[in-house]
Amino acid sequence: MSDNITQSAAEAAIGQGNEPFNMTPVEAALPAEEKPNMAQKADWGDPVPYNYNAYTKDATHEWESNTARYEWDGDYGDVGPEFPELELQLFGDPTLRGKKGIDFSTIDSIEVFQEGPARIDPIANFEDAGLHPVMLKNVQLAGYDAPTPIQRYCLPAIHNGYDVIGIAQTGSGKTAAYLVPILSKLMGKAKKLAAPRPNPATYKPGVDAPVTAEPLVVIVAPTRELAVQIFNEARKFCYRTMLRPCVVYGGGTFRDQQEQLGRGCDVLIGTPGRLVDFLERPAVLTLRRMRYIVIDEADEMLAEDWKPQLDKIMAGGDQEEGTINYMLFSATFPKAARDLAKTHLADTHVRLRVGRAGSTHRNIAQDVIEVAGPKKKQALLDYMNDLKPQRVIIFANSKRTVEELDDLLYKNKFPCTSIHGDRNQKEREASMRAFRCGDCPVLITTGVSARGIDVRNVFLVINYDLPSMDHGGIEEYTHRIGRTGRIGHHGVAVSFYDPARDEPIASVLTRTLLETDQEVPDFLKPYVPEGVARENLKFEADSDFEEDAGAAGAAGDAGDAGEGWGSGWGTGAEGAEGVEVPNNFGPAQSTEESVPAW
Ligand code: AMP
Repeated sequence: MSDNITQSAAEAAIGQGNEPFNMTPVEAALPAEEKPNMAQKADWGDPVPYNYNAYTKDATHEWESNTARYEWDGDYGDVGPEFPELELQLFGDPTLRGKKGIDFSTIDSIEVFQEGPARIDPIANFEDAGLHPVMLKNVQLAGYDAPTPIQRYCLPAIHNGYDVIGIAQTGSGKTAAYLVPILSKLMGKAKKLAAPRPNPATYKPGVDAPVTAEPLVVIVAPTRELAVQIFNEARKFCYRTMLRPCVVYGGGTFRDQQEQLGRGCDVLIGTPGRLVDFLERPAVLTLRRMRYIVIDEADEMLAEDWKPQLDKIMAGGDQEEGTINYMLFSATFPKAARDLAKTHLADTHVRLRVGRAGSTHRNIAQDVIEVAGPKKKQALLDYMNDLKPQRVIIFANSKRTVEELDDLLYKNKFPCTSIHGDRNQKEREASMRAFRCGDCPVLITTGVSARGIDVRNVFLVINYDLPSMDHGGIEEYTHRIGRTGRIGHHGVAVSFYDPARDEPIASVLTRTLLETDQEVPDFLKPYVPEGVARENLKFEADSDFEEDAGAAGAAGDAGDAGEGWGSGWGTGAEGAEGVEVPNNFGPAQSTEESVPAW
C-alpha cells in the first residue's frame, strides 16, 4: 500500500472498519473466522480479454434496441395474456423478486418538498395509487414493495393529470415514478388512442409495409446508456399492457431502430439527436398522438446544448393544445431548465424536490486521499490489490487515461472493462453487459459515458481523477459517487486528490464532505469554513438556484410569483413547504441476503 493512502480509506474499502459498506449483511453477520477473505484476488475471477474490434464486425451481436418485449398475436383486448418465459426474462428469478436488496432505512430520512400551485397527498403504498390491476401486478413482479419518496408524490400527481417537475437524481426511483402511472393511465385506452400496427406474429420485415410510429409517450434522456436503462424499465412495465416500447439512440444502427419503429411504437425512449433525426422523416415517426412527454436529466441535456432539439420534441406534433402532459426531471434545476419548464408546463403543475443534492449521499462513505499525479497508478493498484471482489467503477477524466487504466488493471489480472466516448455503441453495450452480469466487475469510464448508469451492487466508486471545475465540478462528483449507494444501499467512494491539480475543487469538496457527515482529511482542513459559513453549508448547485430565485423574490417580481415561480424553492427551511415523508418503511434492515455480490 502506498504511503499516501490513509488507513481509513483502506479500512473502508476492504471492510475492516466499516463492514456493512462492503460485505453483504449476511457476510457481515458471520463470525470473524467465517467472514470472506477480502484480500484474495483469486476470487476476482479471470480477466476477460476484450477484442473491441470484434464488436464492430460481429453481426450476431444483439442491439439493446432489439431485445425482447411483450408482443402479442392478434387481438386480445385491453390486457394481454401472461407469458411466463418472457416474464422470467424481464423480471428475473421469481425466488429473488422482492428481495432485491433495497435498504429503505436511509430512504426514511429523505425529505420531499412540494411547491407550486397544485398540492398532492402522498400515497403510502402502491395499492393506493389507483393503478390498473395489471400495472399493480407488474410493480409486484418488479419486486417493489413500497414506493420511494418521489413515487409517493409522483404517482398520485400523474394519476390526477398534473404536469410534474421532479428535482431528483437517478437512484431515487424516478423512472418508475413516471413510467408506472403514465402507462397505467393509458391502459385500456391504447386501442382508442394508439396508431394501427401490424400483427407481430405474422409481420415480416422487408416484406410487409412498416407503419409510421406515433408514440403516445415520449421519454428523452441525455445518454445512450440512460435511454437503454429506461427502455429496460419500460419493457417491464409494458408487460401485458398492449403498449409497445422502443428505444432510439445515436450510435445504434439507424436501420434496426427504424425497423423496430415500423412495427409500431406506443412508448418511445430516445436521445435528443436521434429522436430529431427520426422526426425529420415523418413517414417513420410523428408525435401527433403524443399524450405524455418526459424530459429526464434535463440539466444534462441543456448543458450539452440540446435545447433546439428539446424544443422541437416538446412542441410535439400538430395535436390540440392542452392534450399533452409534460414531466421534467432534473438532478439540479438551473435557469435553462426553469425556462424550458415555464415555456411548456401547465400553470397548475406539481413541483417536487427530493432531498438536497448531497443529502441522499449520507449512505456513501467518502474518502479523499492525497496522491501526487505520478503516484496515482501505483496507488490504484495497491488499493485494488487490497479489495475483496466487488463491483467497482473507476472514473478518469480523459479517454486516454481510461485506456491506460484498462491496460494496467487487465495486465494485473483484474477482470475489467471500459467505456468512453470513442468506443462505438456495440462496444459500449458489450462492456456494460459484461459489467452488469459480473464477467467484468471493474468498469473504468469517463464521467460523461457513465451518466445515469444504474447497476445494482456497485460497492465502490473510485475517482482516479477528481472532476475538474470546468467539467462539472462538484455536481459531477455528486453524480459519480451516486453510482454506488443506489436507492438505500451503502457504498464507498474513494477519490485521489492531486494537490498539483485539484486545488480548485478543494473548497467545495470540503463543504460537501461536511454536509454529508464525512471526515475531512488533514490536507483539506484549511478549507473548512468557519462561523456562519460553517452553519450554512450549501451545495454549488443549490446556491446557484437560490441566487436566481432569491433575486426574483427580492425584486418583487409579482409576475413571476404569479406564475408559481417565486422564491420558495430555497433551502427548504425558508419558504418552501417541507413535507417530511413519514417513517413507515420499518426497521433499518437490509434485505440483501439472497442476492449475490454480482
Ligand atoms: P431510478 O432512480 O429510476 O434509476 O431507480 C433506481 C433503482 O431503484 C432501479 O434499479 C429501480 O428498479 C429501483 N426501484 C425503483 N423504485 C423502487 C421501489 N419502489 N422499490 C424497490 N426498488 C425500486
